[in-house]
Amino acid sequence: MERLKGKVALISGGARGQGAAEARLFVGEGAKVVIGDVLDDLCRKTAAQINASGTSKSAIALHLDVTRAADWHAAVETCEREFGGLDILVNNAGIANAKGLEETSEEEWDSIVNINQKGVWLGMKSAVPAMRKRGAGSIINISSIYGLIGSAGSTAYHGTKGAVRLLSKSAAIEYAADKIRVNSIHPGIILTPMLGVVTREELQPLIDATPLKRGAQPEEVGWCAVFLASDEASFVTGSELVVDGGYTAH
Ligand code: NAD
Repeated sequence: MERLKGKVALISGGARGQGAAEARLFVGEGAKVVIGDVLDDLCRKTAAQINASGTSKSAIALHLDVTRAADWHAAVETCEREFGGLDILVNNAGIANAKGLEETSEEEWDSIVNINQKGVWLGMKSAVPAMRKRGAGSIINISSIYGLIGSAGSTAYHGTKGAVRLLSKSAAIEYAADKIRVNSIHPGIILTPMLGVVTREELQPLIDATPLKRGAQPEEVGWCAVFLASDEASFVTGSELVVDGGYTAH
């Protein structure tokens, strides 16, 4: 399958979880990928695994702290220097905090807003000029079902993921003339290391409330990102793709 043939993607938080799954699927569909993360060793390992499964170098790992503009510039520059340009950005990096409004310290608030919200803005700001040079682009911002609905006990996370939803819609309108599509994905319960912020007892009710009665593998989000990244989604912009086993359908 070559749904992303000739395209170059930059994926933040690509060392593990959904970002790593997206990198594997994108390369399987013919793309070149640059994966950035703060987990440098794991990121290099993930890229090496991807390259070991193919015949040419298709994945590059680099250090990318999404809160730092200089790291973003270096990542975009790597896409252009090593693979000739940038067509797809997946703003996937994120952290969760399972703390209530009053329990959240100012430091924790700043950290989650900087990574989940400012990081998405900085990523788009850095990628757009490179996409303009290519004459088109696809930006996929990973929000959450918690960017659509509320729940008790993680207000900071909800705030950032709600912001990602409207950052995406606004950017979709702003860059439509440049043929840069911007969409958000809203995953439900996805079986990645991030779920470590909740206990098994806290997780079960969330699975029980999911009509499909299970959590998803990261690839089940990854295939949705493949679609949005590909030319199959040529008329899809400003949209929110919910991937939650029916959780928010109630
Ligand atoms: P994960 O924890 O496995 O992956 C997140 C990745 O982001 C990690 O590799 C981490 O090192 C990286 N990261 C954290 N801070 C960073 C920073 N400052 N700069 C660069 N990278 C950084 O979890 P995941 O489930 O793969 O999460 C991917 C995205 O999906 C996140 O935005 C998350 O909020 C969202 N999401 C996850 C779930 C879920 O149930 N797992 C549900 C809804 C949304």
